[in-house]
Amino acid sequence: MKPDKIIIITAPSGSGKTTLVKRLLQACPQLEFSISACTRQPRDGEQHMRDYYFYNEEQFKKLIEEDAFVEWEMVYTGKYYGTLKSELERIWKHGRYPLVDIDVQGALAIHDRYPEDSLSIFIEAPSIEVLRERLVLRGTENAKTLEERVSKAVHELTFADRFNHIIINNDLEEATKELVEVVVAFLNK
Ligand code: 5GP
Repeated sequence: MKPDKIIIITAPSGSGKTTLVKRLLQACPQLEFSISACTRQPRDGEQHMRDYYFYNEEQFKKLIEEDAFVEWEMVYTGKYYGTLKSELERIWKHGRYPLVDIDVQGALAIHDRYPEDSLSIFIEAPSIEVLRERLVLRGTENAKTLEERVSKAVHELTFADRFNHIIINNDLEEATKELVEVVVAFLNK
């Protein structure tokens, strides 16, 4: 199938991405969330085919052999994540555009593959201190995982200038407005 447009969003944890993605999907009904495949266990409340396509390692490796992925990665030790070609095609067939919400390496891989058809957006917290504060307030991390997430964020920041657009999520209303504007402008191009 001929590729159509794709919106790629990436952001370190603590940058406020989840809220912005929800708002973007509400504001742009022509977008549809692209469901990734992964081999980690579903968390409480997560559903196969709604949150992820949950596969075991053997199934995932078979899909790799079949060249079923646009990109895939071992994001955590032994845990694979990937974007299925069939998922992008499913959304294009609906007459919509996929919104791909993945990490920096996956985002750059998709953008390299579809340089003209994709818009890549990096969402940044105003500073590492603010990002750290948000993670502390969220209360989901212990001291070790908090530091891991902060250092991943510092590393991911070094890739920000390889994205088409950087949005600094200082004020949620302003960041939402900017995000919707750049996406709508790209979709109308
Ligand atoms: P979680 O396990 O918390 O749902 O996601 C862990 C990480 O995997 C996040 O950084 C998320 O962005 C990334 N991720 C989710 N789906 C994909 C995917 O399809 N490809 C890649 N490369 N990373 C993904």
